Amino acid sequence: MIVMKFGGSSLASPATIKNVAEVIRANLQKRPLVVVSAHCGATDLLFELARGAVLGKYSTDDFLALHRKLIYGLELDEELIRDDVIELEELLKGISYVKELTPRSLDYVVSFGEKISSKIVAAHLIKCGLPATAYNAYDLGLMTDDAFAQATPLPESDKAIAEAVAGLGETVAVVTGYIAMSLDGDVTTLGRNGSDYTASIFAAAIGADEVQLWTDVDGVMTADPRVVEQARPLTELSFSEASELAYYGAQIIHPNTMIPAVKKKIPIRVLNTYKPSSPGTIVLSECERDCGVVKAIAHKKHLTLIDVVSTRMLLQHGFMAHLFETFNRYRIVIDMIATSEVSVSLTTDTIKNIPAAVRELSQFADVTVTENMSIISIVGEGISKSHNAAAGVFTALADEGVNVRMISQGATRINLAFLVSDEDAETAVKTLHRKFFEEETDKSCLNSFLTETH
Ligand code: ADP
Ligand code: ASP
Ligand code: MG
Repeated sequence: MIVMKFGGSSLASPATIKNVAEVIRANLQKRPLVVVSAHCGATDLLFELARGAVLGKYSTDDFLALHRKLIYGLELDEELIRDDVIELEELLKGISYVKELTPRSLDYVVSFGEKISSKIVAAHLIKCGLPATAYNAYDLGLMTDDAFAQATPLPESDKAIAEAVAGLGETVAVVTGYIAMSLDGDVTTLGRNGSDYTASIFAAAIGADEVQLWTDVDGVMTADPRVVEQARPLTELSFSEASELAYYGAQIIHPNTMIPAVKKKIPIRVLNTYKPSSPGTIVLSECERDCGVVKAIAHKKHLTLIDVVSTRMLLQHGFMAHLFETFNRYRIVIDMIATSEVSVSLTTDTIKNIPAAVRELSQFADVTVTENMSIISIVGEGISKSHNAAAGVFTALADEGVNVRMISQGATRINLAFLVSDEDAETAVKTLHRKFFEEETDKSCLNSFLTETH
């Protein structure tokens, strides 16, 4: 079996959904289980609706229009989504009455994107003569804890999913990505872009031969193609490289996707729905070829830098312990960290609670907060063996006048991450892309890998 996940960008219009059906048909002999995201834009609209409902100001018109366009374009019956729309409208009304939006009800609202898309895709497959059935992932066994918006699958899900899928027979299951359920029966979500994660959870549970992530670009590329026009697809990546890229902002794969795949050594292939014949990128336990030095550049914007300098009221170990305990208590998730004897600098994308945490930390330290910062990360297994990668990075950035605020290299040493202002982020990514992937001299000495890509 294989798991084929189609992202919102592949489900954006009647034409792209027709493409998806043809891609599935071409893979029928591999017995696909299909995982779908919400249609492009639907989840964003649902977040807006939920936030509007709490203020008593919302309208489902845009959400309905988005789906009607697809339903009419595919010549399906609107009845297909009627119950979901009624339930969503009742839910929004409830939120507007109580004027409260809890994480639980927010997950419930945003779950309608995938609930509806799975039905539309399955109905279209049936219309094309393929045997298909829409399922909510939780009806096939995907259960999580109740950490709404960022839920973690429960270990017992694997067995439940394997049993449920084994009982499905010949039908192509079209399963909701992103959403799951807690043991209390509340709908949960796995975090934005979480359908990739759903796909690998299902693949590991059923022992699939491969996870295919079908998207709108030719695979994982040397940089985000929206920022670097010259970005090129990579043939191969290791699980570790893909994890680092995802963690540091390459939106193409959800960071947790690699966890189930690594456990069962299931390859992940990233493919283009619009160009199914392109080879795409394969993510494997280990690269089978010489991988060069730098494989790709990721970036993540809109972070906050917090510099904490101890006023020496606490000994160093007490200072660190207190610091992390405070961030933990305020649920501030740390992306990157650098320390000296008396100071710690860290970055986070959690905006909520920063003022409260800073007030508390200010009792024993001088704290400075700088907003609008970006992490840039260069990733590649070869970085750990390279003598000149870091020098190359910082010389190139200095030549462009980009000021680097903080540097960090993780224990695996397959990435080098540093912090610049949001304003400088795109210049930094473009400069490093030129340096590692476009300049002839550096390409030969720093990145032999690229000569093998297409
Ligand atoms: P999907 O709807 O298929 O889940 P996403 O929009 O979530 O697709 O992710 C695909 C997008 O990720 C691409 O269109 C691209 O702009 C962006 N992206 C960011 N970094 C990379 C990268 N290194 N390689 C390829 N795409 C990237
Ligand atoms: N629909 C969800 C989102 O927009 C999950 C996904 O697309 O993978 O984040
Ligand atoms: Mg995505």
